[in-house]
Amino acid sequence: MRIALMESVRRNHAIEHATVTLMLERGVPAPMGGYSIGPGFVIWSRGSIDDVALAARDALDLLKAGNSELAISPYCGTNIVTFALVGALAARIFSGRKRTFWSTVRGSVAAVIAAMLLGRPLGRLLQRHCTTLPYVEAVKLVEIRELSQKPVSIVWIRTDSSAR
Ligand SMILES: [Zn+2]
Repeated sequence: MRIALMESVRRNHAIEHATVTLMLERGVPAPMGGYSIGPGFVIWSRGSIDDVALAARDALDLLKAGNSELAISPYCGTNIVTFALVGALAARIFSGRKRTFWSTVRGSVAAVIAAMLLGRPLGRLLQRHCTTLPYVEAVKLVEIRELSQKPVSIVWIRTDSSAR
């Protein structure tokens, strides 16, 4: 299974996840999150630009050193989408053709159970094979800039993997 996401997006997504994981480990208070595009990624949080910059550099070093687990995040949007899809599918299957009150209830119970059982492992699987890529040997962080400070800090990190 392969979703045609650009490799640069998937690499940035891996670094983004690892950065958020390190920031949480280092005590930057939740909530925080990120978003990756081809040229780089943004991190929003209540931390300072130094928190983000340090975490991003260390995240890249750790990924380069082979800690590919850091590329997988339980908080990723991939998981949320997977939860929703698995739930909707289970609801459809278990509520059957004839819609009665109880078949609808049965469907929603099935949705919750399926999402609980399958949502997270499937989300991890999709992240590993489709939406992240931990092979970042050639990646450099070329710009780290704070785009806003209030109400949360938004830091833009531009990456480059062309220069060796
Ligand atoms: Zn993600």
